[in-house]
Amino acid sequence: MSALLTVENLNVSYGAIKAVQDVNFVVNNNEIVSLIGANGAGKTTILRTISGLEKPTKGRILFENQNILTMNSERIVSSGVAQVPEGRRVFSGMTVQENLQLGTFTRGKGINLKDEYTLIYDQFPILKERRNQDAATLSGGEQQMLAMGRALMAKPKLLLLDEPSMGLAPLFIEKVFDIIKNVNAQGMTVLIIEQNANQALKIADRGYVLESGKITMTGTGAELLASDDVRKAYLGG
Ligand code: ATP
Repeated sequence: MSALLTVENLNVSYGAIKAVQDVNFVVNNNEIVSLIGANGAGKTTILRTISGLEKPTKGRILFENQNILTMNSERIVSSGVAQVPEGRRVFSGMTVQENLQLGTFTRGKGINLKDEYTLIYDQFPILKERRNQDAATLSGGEQQMLAMGRALMAKPKLLLLDEPSMGLAPLFIEKVFDIIKNVNAQGMTVLIIEQNANQALKIADRGYVLESGKITMTGTGAELLASDDVRKAYLGG
Protein backbone atom coordinates (compact mmCIF):
# COMPACT_ATOMS: atom_id res chain seq x y z
CA MET A 1 0.00 0.00 0.00
CA SER A 2 1.36 3.39 -0.86
CA ALA A 3 0.64 6.61 0.98
CA LEU A 4 -1.19 9.32 -0.94
CA LEU A 5 -1.43 11.73 1.98
CA THR A 6 0.85 11.80 5.00
CA VAL A 7 0.21 14.19 7.89
CA GLU A 8 3.24 14.44 10.17
CA ASN A 9 3.42 16.00 13.59
CA LEU A 10 0.79 18.59 12.69
CA ASN A 11 0.14 21.45 15.10
CA VAL A 12 -2.36 24.24 14.41
CA SER A 13 -3.25 27.06 16.80
CA TYR A 14 -5.72 29.92 16.82
CA GLY A 15 -3.92 32.40 19.04
CA ALA A 16 -3.58 30.65 22.38
CA ILE A 17 -5.95 27.81 21.42
CA LYS A 18 -4.08 24.68 20.38
CA ALA A 19 -6.69 23.21 18.03
CA VAL A 20 -4.47 20.40 16.64
CA GLN A 21 -1.53 18.89 18.54
CA ASP A 22 1.11 16.48 17.19
CA VAL A 23 -1.30 14.77 14.82
CA ASN A 24 0.02 11.97 12.60
CA PHE A 25 -1.97 9.96 10.10
CA VAL A 26 -1.79 8.43 6.65
CA VAL A 27 -4.28 7.96 3.82
CA ASN A 28 -3.18 5.25 1.40
CA ASN A 29 -4.14 5.09 -2.26
CA ASN A 30 -7.71 3.83 -2.78
CA GLU A 31 -8.58 3.81 0.90
CA ILE A 32 -11.51 5.36 2.72
CA VAL A 33 -10.15 6.79 5.97
CA SER A 34 -12.45 8.32 8.59
CA LEU A 35 -11.35 10.77 11.21
CA ILE A 36 -13.97 10.87 13.92
CA GLY A 37 -14.37 13.13 16.92
CA ALA A 38 -16.76 15.26 18.89
CA ASN A 39 -17.59 18.91 18.32
CA GLY A 40 -14.48 21.06 18.60
CA ALA A 41 -12.03 18.13 18.45
CA GLY A 42 -10.14 19.80 15.61
CA LYS A 43 -11.48 17.88 12.61
CA THR A 44 -12.37 20.88 10.46
CA THR A 45 -9.07 22.55 11.31
CA ILE A 46 -7.18 19.51 9.98
CA LEU A 47 -9.12 19.52 6.69
CA ARG A 48 -8.70 23.26 6.26
CA THR A 49 -4.96 22.89 6.84
CA ILE A 50 -4.71 20.15 4.20
CA SER A 51 -6.59 22.45 1.79
CA GLY A 52 -4.19 25.32 2.51
CA LEU A 53 -6.75 27.48 4.31
CA GLU A 54 -4.97 27.37 7.68
CA LYS A 55 -1.22 27.49 8.32
CA PRO A 56 0.21 25.12 10.95
CA THR A 57 2.70 26.16 13.60
CA LYS A 58 4.55 22.87 13.11
CA GLY A 59 4.47 19.73 10.99
CA ARG A 60 4.42 18.54 7.40
CA ILE A 61 1.70 17.47 4.99
CA LEU A 62 2.87 15.36 2.09
CA PHE A 63 0.66 14.67 -0.90
CA GLU A 64 2.25 12.29 -3.40
CA ASN A 65 5.51 12.84 -1.47
CA GLN A 66 5.38 16.59 -2.07
CA ASN A 67 5.08 19.04 0.79
CA ILE A 68 1.85 20.91 0.05
CA LEU A 69 2.20 23.32 2.97
CA THR A 70 4.14 25.67 0.75
CA MET A 71 1.35 25.78 -1.86
CA ASN A 72 -1.69 28.05 -1.96
CA SER A 73 -5.20 26.56 -2.01
CA GLU A 74 -5.58 26.81 -5.76
CA ARG A 75 -2.38 24.86 -6.37
CA ILE A 76 -3.38 22.27 -3.84
CA VAL A 77 -6.65 21.72 -5.73
CA SER A 78 -4.89 21.52 -9.09
CA SER A 79 -2.40 19.03 -7.68
CA GLY A 80 -5.36 16.73 -6.89
CA VAL A 81 -6.95 17.49 -3.52
CA ALA A 82 -10.61 18.57 -3.52
CA GLN A 83 -12.63 19.44 -0.45
CA VAL A 84 -16.37 19.18 0.09
CA PRO A 85 -16.84 21.79 2.80
CA GLU A 86 -18.94 21.53 5.93
CA GLY A 87 -22.47 22.74 5.29
CA ARG A 88 -22.10 22.11 1.55
CA ARG A 89 -21.72 25.80 0.51
CA VAL A 90 -23.41 25.54 -2.84
CA PHE A 91 -23.84 28.85 -4.65
CA SER A 92 -27.37 30.17 -4.67
CA GLY A 93 -28.47 32.29 -7.61
CA MET A 94 -26.67 29.79 -9.83
CA THR A 95 -28.09 26.63 -11.33
CA VAL A 96 -26.99 23.13 -10.38
CA GLN A 97 -25.03 22.84 -13.61
CA GLU A 98 -23.33 26.20 -13.12
CA ASN A 99 -22.27 25.05 -9.67
CA LEU A 100 -20.76 21.94 -11.22
CA GLN A 101 -18.89 24.02 -13.76
CA LEU A 102 -17.25 25.99 -10.94
CA GLY A 103 -15.57 22.76 -9.87
CA THR A 104 -13.47 22.81 -13.04
CA PHE A 105 -11.91 26.22 -12.46
CA THR A 106 -8.41 24.90 -11.73
CA ARG A 107 -8.37 22.67 -14.81
CA GLY A 108 -7.95 25.43 -17.37
CA LYS A 109 -9.46 25.49 -20.82
CA GLY A 110 -9.89 22.68 -23.31
CA ILE A 111 -12.00 20.32 -21.25
CA ASN A 112 -15.22 19.00 -22.74
CA LEU A 113 -17.78 20.18 -20.20
CA LYS A 114 -20.57 18.11 -21.70
CA ASP A 115 -18.66 14.88 -21.12
CA GLU A 116 -17.75 15.99 -17.62
CA TYR A 117 -21.38 16.71 -16.73
CA THR A 118 -22.39 13.31 -18.10
CA LEU A 119 -19.94 11.56 -15.78
CA ILE A 120 -21.38 13.36 -12.78
CA TYR A 121 -25.01 12.92 -13.85
CA ASP A 122 -24.45 9.17 -14.24
CA GLN A 123 -23.34 9.09 -10.63
CA PHE A 124 -25.99 11.53 -9.36
CA PRO A 125 -29.16 11.20 -11.49
CA ILE A 126 -31.00 13.65 -9.23
CA LEU A 127 -28.58 16.40 -10.25
CA LYS A 128 -29.39 15.78 -13.89
CA GLU A 129 -33.08 16.18 -13.15
CA ARG A 130 -32.37 19.40 -11.29
CA ARG A 131 -29.63 20.75 -13.53
CA ASN A 132 -31.40 24.01 -14.50
CA GLN A 133 -32.74 24.69 -11.03
CA ASP A 134 -31.28 27.26 -8.61
CA ALA A 135 -28.96 25.33 -6.29
CA ALA A 136 -30.56 27.01 -3.28
CA THR A 137 -33.84 25.20 -3.98
CA LEU A 138 -32.29 21.74 -3.46
CA SER A 139 -32.87 19.76 -0.27
CA GLY A 140 -29.98 19.30 2.15
CA GLY A 141 -29.19 15.83 0.80
CA GLU A 142 -29.29 17.05 -2.79
CA GLN A 143 -27.00 19.94 -1.90
CA GLN A 144 -24.56 17.45 -0.37
CA MET A 145 -24.59 15.54 -3.66
CA LEU A 146 -24.06 18.74 -5.60
CA ALA A 147 -21.12 19.69 -3.39
CA MET A 148 -19.63 16.23 -3.98
CA GLY A 149 -20.28 16.45 -7.72
CA ARG A 150 -18.63 19.87 -7.83
CA ALA A 151 -15.55 18.53 -6.02
CA LEU A 152 -15.37 15.57 -8.44
CA MET A 153 -15.44 17.99 -11.39
CA ALA A 154 -11.93 19.01 -10.31
CA LYS A 155 -10.84 15.41 -11.14
CA PRO A 156 -9.11 15.00 -7.77
CA LYS A 157 -6.98 12.09 -6.57
CA LEU A 158 -8.08 12.71 -2.99
CA LEU A 159 -11.56 13.73 -1.92
CA LEU A 160 -11.91 15.41 1.48
CA LEU A 161 -15.38 15.32 3.02
CA ASP A 162 -16.24 17.52 5.98
CA GLU A 163 -19.18 16.01 7.91
CA PRO A 164 -21.17 14.81 4.90
CA SER A 165 -24.02 13.57 7.13
CA MET A 166 -24.53 16.83 8.97
CA GLY A 167 -28.16 17.95 9.11
CA LEU A 168 -29.40 15.14 6.86
CA ALA A 169 -32.33 12.81 7.45
CA PRO A 170 -31.29 9.16 8.08
CA LEU A 171 -32.40 8.04 4.63
CA PHE A 172 -30.25 10.68 2.95
CA ILE A 173 -27.31 9.86 5.21
CA GLU A 174 -27.41 6.27 3.94
CA LYS A 175 -27.60 7.50 0.35
CA VAL A 176 -24.68 9.87 0.75
CA PHE A 177 -22.50 7.16 2.30
CA ASP A 178 -23.50 4.72 -0.46
CA ILE A 179 -22.35 7.25 -3.02
CA ILE A 180 -19.06 7.75 -1.18
CA LYS A 181 -18.55 3.97 -1.32
CA ASN A 182 -19.32 3.94 -5.05
CA VAL A 183 -16.96 6.79 -5.78
CA ASN A 184 -14.26 4.93 -3.83
CA ALA A 185 -14.98 1.68 -5.68
CA GLN A 186 -14.22 3.55 -8.90
CA GLY A 187 -10.75 4.36 -7.61
CA MET A 188 -11.12 7.55 -5.59
CA THR A 189 -9.21 7.89 -2.31
CA VAL A 190 -11.39 9.45 0.39
CA LEU A 191 -10.80 11.14 3.74
CA ILE A 192 -13.96 11.75 5.75
CA ILE A 193 -14.26 13.68 8.95
CA GLU A 194 -17.41 12.96 10.90
CA GLN A 195 -19.23 13.15 14.19
CA ASN A 196 -21.48 10.37 12.89
CA ALA A 197 -19.00 7.68 13.88
CA ASN A 198 -21.29 4.80 13.06
CA GLN A 199 -21.70 5.46 9.33
CA ALA A 200 -18.23 6.85 8.85
CA LEU A 201 -16.56 3.80 10.41
CA LYS A 202 -18.84 1.33 8.65
CA ILE A 203 -17.55 2.35 5.24
CA ALA A 204 -13.96 3.10 6.32
CA ASP A 205 -10.98 0.85 5.67
CA ARG A 206 -9.27 2.56 8.58
CA GLY A 207 -10.14 5.23 11.10
CA TYR A 208 -8.64 7.59 13.64
CA VAL A 209 -10.26 9.05 16.74
CA LEU A 210 -9.49 12.69 17.49
CA GLU A 211 -10.02 14.09 20.99
CA SER A 212 -9.15 17.66 21.99
CA GLY A 213 -6.79 18.05 19.06
CA LYS A 214 -4.97 14.74 19.55
CA ILE A 215 -5.28 11.30 17.96
CA THR A 216 -6.19 8.86 20.72
CA MET A 217 -7.08 5.68 18.81
CA THR A 218 -6.59 4.08 15.43
CA GLY A 219 -7.58 0.83 13.77
CA THR A 220 -9.62 -0.62 10.95
CA GLY A 221 -13.17 0.70 10.66
CA ALA A 222 -14.48 -2.60 12.03
CA GLU A 223 -12.05 -2.59 14.98
CA LEU A 224 -13.03 0.91 16.01
CA LEU A 225 -16.73 0.16 15.63
CA ALA A 226 -16.29 -2.81 17.97
CA SER A 227 -14.20 -0.92 20.51
CA ASP A 228 -15.83 -0.30 23.89
CA ASP A 229 -14.24 3.14 24.19
CA VAL A 230 -15.54 4.22 20.79
CA ARG A 231 -18.98 2.79 21.52
CA LYS A 232 -19.22 4.63 24.83
CA ALA A 233 -17.98 7.96 23.53
CA TYR A 234 -19.45 8.10 20.03
CA LEU A 235 -22.11 5.48 19.56
CA GLY A 236 -24.22 5.92 22.67
CA GLY A 237 -22.86 2.93 24.62
P1 ATP B 1 -17.02 20.87 14.60
O1 ATP B 1 -17.54 19.51 14.45
O2 ATP B 1 -17.79 21.70 15.57
O3 ATP B 1 -16.73 21.59 13.33
P2 ATP B 1 -14.25 20.25 14.79
O4 ATP B 1 -13.82 18.96 15.36
O5 ATP B 1 -14.25 20.38 13.33
O6 ATP B 1 -15.63 20.67 15.37
P3 ATP B 1 -12.64 22.61 14.80
O7 ATP B 1 -13.68 23.43 14.13
O8 ATP B 1 -11.45 22.22 14.04
O9 ATP B 1 -13.28 21.32 15.45
O10 ATP B 1 -12.18 23.40 16.11
C1 ATP B 1 -11.13 22.98 16.97
C2 ATP B 1 -10.91 24.01 18.07
O11 ATP B 1 -10.43 25.23 17.51
C3 ATP B 1 -12.18 24.39 18.84
O12 ATP B 1 -11.82 24.61 20.17
C4 ATP B 1 -12.63 25.67 18.17
O13 ATP B 1 -13.36 26.46 19.06
C5 ATP B 1 -11.31 26.31 17.79
N1 ATP B 1 -11.41 27.14 16.58
C6 ATP B 1 -11.80 26.73 15.35
N2 ATP B 1 -11.73 27.74 14.45
C7 ATP B 1 -11.30 28.82 15.14
C8 ATP B 1 -11.02 30.19 14.79
N3 ATP B 1 -11.16 30.62 13.54
N4 ATP B 1 -10.61 31.01 15.77
C9 ATP B 1 -10.45 30.57 17.05
N5 ATP B 1 -10.68 29.31 17.43
C10 ATP B 1 -11.10 28.44 16.51
